[in-house]
Amino acid sequence: MSNPQRPAVFPTLLGGIGPRAERRRRSLPASILRLPTVGVDIGGTKVVAGVVDGEGRVLERLRTDTPDKSKSPRVVEDVIVDLVLQLADRHDVHAVGVGAAGWVDADRSRVLFAPHLNWRNEPLRDALSARLRFPVVVENDANAAAWAEWRFGAGRGEEHMVMLTLGTGIGGAQVRDGYVDRGRYGLAGEFGHMQVVPGGHRCPCGNRGCWEQYSSGNALVRDARELVAEESPVVQPLLALAGGTAAGLTGPLITEAARGGDPVATELLYEVGTWLGVGIANLAAALDPGRFVIGGGVSESGELLLEPARNAFKRTLTGRGFRPEAEIVHAALGNDAGLVGAADLARQVARRFRTIKRHRVERAVGTAS
Ligand SMILES: [Zn+2]
Repeated sequence: MSNPQRPAVFPTLLGGIGPRAERRRRSLPASILRLPTVGVDIGGTKVVAGVVDGEGRVLERLRTDTPDKSKSPRVVEDVIVDLVLQLADRHDVHAVGVGAAGWVDADRSRVLFAPHLNWRNEPLRDALSARLRFPVVVENDANAAAWAEWRFGAGRGEEHMVMLTLGTGIGGAQVRDGYVDRGRYGLAGEFGHMQVVPGGHRCPCGNRGCWEQYSSGNALVRDARELVAEESPVVQPLLALAGGTAAGLTGPLITEAARGGDPVATELLYEVGTWLGVGIANLAAALDPGRFVIGGGVSESGELLLEPARNAFKRTLTGRGFRPEAEIVHAALGNDAGLVGAADLARQVARRFRTIKRHRVERAVGTAS
């Protein structure tokens, strides 16, 4: 569906990407920067949508299951449209930001590839804005989370921050001088696939020895299951917590067990934290940010992860002792970061939504199809 007005709207308000666009965004009237917008976070298992105000507060959130990978892109769009229209019924919404696990192109219009969904070079932004009649921004989920932490969380006040999200793998992104640095093709920040161990563990990306094979929830699980396979007595208390089966050993369970004082879980987190610090030292050598913000499920172990990370960082940092050192801090926004960041990025394309009833008409059309 085409809308002849839309091409004129996007260049004016979005103004492209990068520092110049960001300066333009900052020069937008304060009234626009306060407008509520919707953020949608599309994860591997859940889709969460929420209305976010100009202070980064989530006013209402809705969630549903992520459609199965076998479903068509249209089905995923239906889920997003339905959640957004439900929220728009109750809130004065002006734009929609979608954060998705996957590669988003440099224009932030197409999802080039998504591991959990049937999106291959999918023109998601235009498909959604045509159906919703709202301006839509599509962003990689790690970029959205970093943006949220920089605007409202642990990255505030730092002109160059790197965020690392430790879940099943490592999500990465950097914000510098007030914009998300996406790289030439929109694919920057895949730090988890830097090779740290030549010939090391196989990674789903096709290579071996990627950083995220050593510093992630998957690394915790693999190491714990190895101990079980070796029938090691030290892992028995942890195995009991997992219901007695190796399949029950998950990243969240091991993180929780470490917080509860389980010695093997603590040791596994120590190793993951040490690898985290080594990788951060490499990133500091390449990027030299002022602060690393660590989020994701594994980071809920707090200092059990960050203390060994800081120690390994200090031992590994190039030029240590002769240079300023970046801080390594815990993320502040938790699971909301992707949602809040996507909504805030959408605010830069927000505009008065004049024909209030249009979305109700669209909803009727959407239901009929
Ligand atoms: Zn890899």
